[in-house]
Amino acid sequence: MKIAAVRTHLLDYRLATPFESASMRFDRRAHVLVEIVCDNGLTGWGECLGPARPNASVVAAYTPWLLGADPLETEKIWATLYNALRDQGQRGLTMTALSGIDIALWDIKGKHFGVPISTLLGGRFRDHVRAYATGSFKRDGVDRIEDNVTEVRRYQTEGFGASKIKIGFGVDQDLRVVRAVRDAVGPDFRLMVDANHGYDTLEAIRFGRAAAELDIDWFEEPVVPEHLAAYREVKANQLIPVAGGETWQGRFAMKEPVETRAVDILQPDLAGTGGFTEAKRIVDMAALYGVRVVPHVWGTAVHIAAALQFMAAMVPSPVRVNPIEPILEFDRTDNPYRQAVVTQPIEHEAGVVRIPNGPGLGVEINRDALAEYKMAEA
Ligand SMILES: [Mg+2]
Repeated sequence: MKIAAVRTHLLDYRLATPFESASMRFDRRAHVLVEIVCDNGLTGWGECLGPARPNASVVAAYTPWLLGADPLETEKIWATLYNALRDQGQRGLTMTALSGIDIALWDIKGKHFGVPISTLLGGRFRDHVRAYATGSFKRDGVDRIEDNVTEVRRYQTEGFGASKIKIGFGVDQDLRVVRAVRDAVGPDFRLMVDANHGYDTLEAIRFGRAAAELDIDWFEEPVVPEHLAAYREVKANQLIPVAGGETWQGRFAMKEPVETRAVDILQPDLAGTGGFTEAKRIVDMAALYGVRVVPHVWGTAVHIAAALQFMAAMVPSPVRVNPIEPILEFDRTDNPYRQAVVTQPIEHEAGVVRIPNGPGLGVEINRDALAEYKMAEA
């Protein structure tokens, strides 16, 4: 079996109501899927984290090394592609594009052997996971407190037991929002906060100290990802567990945060950190240092399916009768094609998501949706 074609599918949707995290404004939802076709007709799908069109360009740059290669040789292909562009960057688009390719290759491998990727990774420890709702961005033209309270209450009504609120817009305003949400949902609902590196060190510490009484599961990306000393300072000077890692790509970028315990919770992204091949090494490294892992997810059902396959195979930790189960990041913001790209949407039932058990990623692509949401030519 040889790789015969590599294609990218650019997807796009203009949001009726734009929204913002502390570091990014979203007017549209744009994502890119990677399709790898073999000479026997077997097809695998992947997805790249980050900007769609630039990712597609880098996938195209990698394609000459892929054509004619044996898709089952995932490690060999990973090393070849990484080495091909390593001098230009060990993170960023070179890694996110490589991630989308690697996910597609593992999808092919699973389909070839007729097993889910989780089986190839060593076995399924679980067939479902609890999910937390990601939303609560700052939306245009509405009162942020009222909007976030209404939104998180809705997730609670839908059966979710946890939700993440976007902060990083200003410590005092953020505290008012998180307090109002905590008051609205009561003490048993789990809340996380994500600053998307919108604070400096002092702001992050001030927020963390003031919000500690609000029972927050984790404080995600308090400061810019390059400042690992600042991460450690935030971690040492307030009580909320610190999370991060969605922008640290590849095992070398993860090494220092893990070794120096810059975070309590590491958040590698399957579609950004190097696909299954590299993410497996990263969770093994995190386990070596006793750092908890909760994968980051932001994309379509292809990305979600990859995260689910990976989470199915995550070794329970700590080893005990009822270990801490990994929790799925489940984006609830506006994106009509997120689930439309697959024939069987990955949905939650009372906050619980079943892990597909079909071959590969366990999803089938709906090509009509790819056509419907196809990005206009540049
Ligand atoms: Mg985040």
